[in-house]
Amino acid sequence: MYQLQDSVLVVKGIGKNLQDSLASQNIEQILDLLLYLPLRYEDRSSIKTIQEIKGLSQEETKIVKSDENQKVNTNFVTTKAKVLKWNEYRKGRLLISRATIIDETDQLNCIWFNNKFLKNKLIVGQEFFFSGNLKDGSLMQATVEKVADDAENIHTGRLVPIYSQLAGLKQGSLRRVLAEAIGKLHQSGDLEQVFRDLHFPSDIDRIILARERLALEEILYLMQISAEHKREHQKKNAIFSLAETQETQNLELPFELTTSQEKAIKEIFADLHKSAPMNRLLVGDVGSGKTIVAAIPANALVKNGQNVCLIVPTKILAKQHYNNLKAIFKDINFALLSSDSKLDQAATEQSTFYIGTHSLLKQLEKIKPSLVIYDEQQRFGVKHRQLEEYLDQQKKQPHLLSMTATPIPRSLMLSIFSHLDLSYLDQMPNSRKMATTWLIPKAKELKALEWLVKELLVEGDRKKQAIIICPFINPSSYGATENVAAVKESLEFIKKELKKIYQKLDIDDKKQLKIAALHSKLDKKKQIKIIEDVYAEKIQILVSTPMVEVGVDLPNADIIIIQSAERFGLSSLHQLRGRVGRQGQESYCLLFSSANTKQDQTSQERLQKFCKEKDGLKLAQIDLENRGAGDILGYKQSGLNNLHFASWTNSEIIKKAQEKFKENPNQESFLKAYLEKINTSGNIETATN
Ligand code: ADP
Ligand code: MG
Repeated sequence: MYQLQDSVLVVKGIGKNLQDSLASQNIEQILDLLLYLPLRYEDRSSIKTIQEIKGLSQEETKIVKSDENQKVNTNFVTTKAKVLKWNEYRKGRLLISRATIIDETDQLNCIWFNNKFLKNKLIVGQEFFFSGNLKDGSLMQATVEKVADDAENIHTGRLVPIYSQLAGLKQGSLRRVLAEAIGKLHQSGDLEQVFRDLHFPSDIDRIILARERLALEEILYLMQISAEHKREHQKKNAIFSLAETQETQNLELPFELTTSQEKAIKEIFADLHKSAPMNRLLVGDVGSGKTIVAAIPANALVKNGQNVCLIVPTKILAKQHYNNLKAIFKDINFALLSSDSKLDQAATEQSTFYIGTHSLLKQLEKIKPSLVIYDEQQRFGVKHRQLEEYLDQQKKQPHLLSMTATPIPRSLMLSIFSHLDLSYLDQMPNSRKMATTWLIPKAKELKALEWLVKELLVEGDRKKQAIIICPFINPSSYGATENVAAVKESLEFIKKELKKIYQKLDIDDKKQLKIAALHSKLDKKKQIKIIEDVYAEKIQILVSTPMVEVGVDLPNADIIIIQSAERFGLSSLHQLRGRVGRQGQESYCLLFSSANTKQDQTSQERLQKFCKEKDGLKLAQIDLENRGAGDILGYKQSGLNNLHFASWTNSEIIKKAQEKFKENPNQESFLKAYLEKINTSGNIETATN
C-alpha cells in the first residue's frame, strides 16, 4: 500500500532511471505524480461494431462538438477489431499508412499520416481497439491500443486521459503507472476516489467534482498560510518606523496625484509609523500609477537613512523604474542590481533605493532594507522562499508592500488573505485614456496593418510606436520555445506585408519603419538593448511575446495589435491594452482573432464585449460568466493569477473553502507540501515570459 508522501520509486513500473527523470521535473512523491493531471480526456467510452459505425450518418459521427471547457474530446468512435491487412508508403514527405480492420460484422478502412510508430504496433491477425474520427467512410488517425494490455480498462472503452509528455513515458505507460499508484493508494477519506476521478473518471461530472476539490484545497491552503503569516507577523517589530508625518506636497512630481493615490500613500505612511511591520497589498489596474505610490514612502525612508528594495519581474522593468524614479527623486541614492552585479561596498554605506529582479533577494542580508516592495506580485499568499528565509532569521522585520494589477474584488481578498492590509487604486490618472479597442475581422487584417503603417508614418513631435503581440500556440506554455518560433514567424510575415504596403503607398527606403522582435529566450543584454532602442525611438514596431504584459514599460507606445486574441483571458488582454497610451496620448488596441467560424461565436462575442468594457474588474467577471465551471479546469491557463487549481473568479469554491476553514482552521490541506514546492521553485522571469 502506498502513501501520498512515498517516493515514486515504490510504484511498480518506476525504476531508478525513471525516478531520476521524474525528479528532474519536480515529481518526487506519489502525490506529485498523481497531481500530474491530464491535459484532456478522450471519450472512448462506447465501443461500436464496425457495422454500427458504418450505419452512423455523417451527422452522427460528428456527435457532440468537443467541449473545450471540460477538455473532453467526444468526437470519437471506438471499435474493437482485427487487422486484416495493412501497408504504408510515402507520398513526397508524407508517410501514409492504410489498414483494413475486421470484426464479426464488417470491414473498415483506416488511414494515418506520418505515424512512424504504427509498424511496431499493427500486427495482422491481432485484435486492437481503434479510436478515431470517421471521415468519408474511413477511420482517420486512429489511436491503436492492444486489447490484451487493458486488463485494468484504462486505455479504452472509457474516458481516457491524455497527458503531456512526461519523462519520455508513452501515454500507455504513464497511464499504467498512474493506475498502479492509484490502485494501491492507502489514504483515509475520499482522496483515493478524487485521484481516480482525475485520471480515470467514469464520467465528465466526476472530473469536474474532483477538480473542484483540488481548487477548494488550494484556496484552503492559501487561507491557512495567510493565517499563519498573520500569527508570525503579529509577534514581530519593524526595523524602522517613521517618527513624524511626512510631507508629500514639496515633492516635485511630473503630475498631480489622483485622490486614490493620495489615499493609498496615506495608508502606507500610517503603517510606517507603527512599530509593527507593514504587510500591505496595493491593488490597481494597469496604469493606475502604483509605482509612484510605493516610491514616495520609499523615498521618505531613504531620506531617513534607511535602505529600501523594489523587486520587479524583469530586468528590463528594473532598469525602467530605475531611470524613471531617479529622475523624480533627485536627491536620494539609487542602485540598479542585476544578478551578476556585486553590491558596491561604498554604496552600501549610503542609504539607498535598490531596484532589481528576484536576484535582489540574495542580497537582503547585506542590504538590510527597512522596506521591501514587490511589484506585480501575483502570489499574494506565498512569499518567495528566499524572502521567507530571510524574514525568518530576522528579529526585526522590514515593512512589506506588494503591488498587483490582478483584479480581485476587495471582499474576496479579505476573505482569503487575512494577513494583508489592502489599498486600492480605483481611479485612473486624469490624463490617461484606455486604448480605443477594435476587433478586426480576418479579412481586414492586412488593411489594419496598412492603417498602422500610415499612423506610424504621421510626422509629429515624436515618432509613434506600436507593439505587436504574437500568437502563442499553447496558452499553457507561457515561456515555451513555441513562443519564440511564433515571434520569429510573425516578424517575417509582418516584414513581408510591410514591404508590400511600402510599395503600394510608394514609401521610400529611408522612411520605412524599424522593426524588432523581443522574447525571453533572447540574451538579456539584447533584450535591454531592444527596449532602449524603443525608448530612443530607433524602433517603431516591436513584435513580442506576451512578456510585455507585466515585464516592460513602454511609455511611448501608441498602438498594440494582439494576434490570436481569442487565446487570452480578458484580464490578460486588458493588461496588454494597458501597455499603450501610458502618457495620456491617444491609443489603440487592435484584436486579431483566428477564430472566425460559427463555432467560435462565443469567443467573438467575448472579444466584442472586451472592446466596449474598460473596467478590469468587470472584465474578470465576464471571463467568469463565459467560462463558468470550465474556469476551474483552466488550472494552467495563462493570465494573471498563479493559482494552480483554483480561480479567483470562482466565488462558490471560495465560499466553501471559507466554511471549511472556519470549521477547522488547523486541518492542513493535503496539497500543502506540493503547493509549497511549486510555488517556491518557479521564478517570475520564466513565469511571465
Ligand atoms: P502601474 O499601476 O501599471 O504600475 P505605473 O506606476 O507604471 O502604473 O504608471 C503608469 C504611468 O502613469 C507612468 O508613466 C506614470 O508616470 C504615470 N502616472 C502615475 N500617476 C500619475 C498621475 N497621477 N497623473 C499622471 N500620470 C501618472
Ligand atoms: Mg507597474
